[in-house]
Amino acid sequence: MKEAEFYEQHKDNKVQCLLCPHNCIISNGKLGICKVRRNIDGKLIAENYGQVSSMAFDPVEKKPLYHFFPSKEILSIGTVGCNLKCSFCQNSEISQNSVKEYPMLRYYDTDEVIKIAQSRAGNIGIAFTYNEPVIWYEFVLDVAKKAKEISLKTVMVSNAFINKEPLSKLINYVDAFNIDLKSFTNYFYKKYTSSWIEPVKENLKTIKRSGKHLEITNLIIPGLNDDCKDFENMISWIRDELGKDVPLHISRYFPQYKLQTDVTPLNTLQNCYDRARKKLDYVYLGNIRTNKGSDTICPSCGKTLISRTGYSTQLLGIASSGKCMYCNRAILNHNYVEL
Ligand code: SF4
Repeated sequence: MKEAEFYEQHKDNKVQCLLCPHNCIISNGKLGICKVRRNIDGKLIAENYGQVSSMAFDPVEKKPLYHFFPSKEILSIGTVGCNLKCSFCQNSEISQNSVKEYPMLRYYDTDEVIKIAQSRAGNIGIAFTYNEPVIWYEFVLDVAKKAKEISLKTVMVSNAFINKEPLSKLINYVDAFNIDLKSFTNYFYKKYTSSWIEPVKENLKTIKRSGKHLEITNLIIPGLNDDCKDFENMISWIRDELGKDVPLHISRYFPQYKLQTDVTPLNTLQNCYDRARKKLDYVYLGNIRTNKGSDTICPSCGKTLISRTGYSTQLLGIASSGKCMYCNRAILNHNYVEL
């Protein structure tokens, strides 16, 4: 447990958390919407500080990040809780429980996490993933600061539903983001996630402007967010506001948690892929075994530069500079190339 950052004390021993746009006003003894930040006698306490639900060395492609140290591993850790209530959540057993409700947590201090990250040869750093890292803010920040001191990379796999000030502080210590853009309509965000889209769009622009590495994931759920016009609006917005070089991962939905609609049909995914490829340089299909949409193709010369089968990744045409070996086009961010 640790006292939270970004909150205000109100009268009657209430506190207001200012970490995410919910801005919960919390009575003494109660938790915020995310189920991990509790008002204890007028102080806001992060109950999940250091409480780890899952830890593994994963391929960085599993985050998914395809343009950030491809083929390398990253120590991936998560806790419990989430500030969204997605009815289709793929990790609800950790995201929708509090510290008290999830008995399999183990406490690690920041030095232990760093030591584990350093123990594996070739590990590039630490990814905060599995559940929403925004609501683990204080621990993520403390670990990320230590990681920076020894040149470990840090990654956030996030919904980007966070207030501006905490994001501005955190962004200094994070090297790469995969942001889950769940749909391009506020209707969907409100009805199926209990949040709203505007802060997510603003935060995507902030991350891009910061120069940190950014990739986006969009889970396609049949009948709920697969409308062609909305999808076209989304990819046009990504191209115009973020840039056509931001990789987009179009992901296949499987029934989970409260939502039990059908699995996304393959032709829906392929249709989305074809539409997105007309506007964006790098489009990938996820949660699906297919030859289409897994490799990195040079947008200039059309050569296959990175080949992927499952989580097996082969670098075929990337120079140590991060450029295409055949035509010299920049493919990976220069700062991150140590292949
Ligand atoms: S982080 Fe949690 S407690 Fe804070 S505003 Fe968001 S949902 Fe509420």
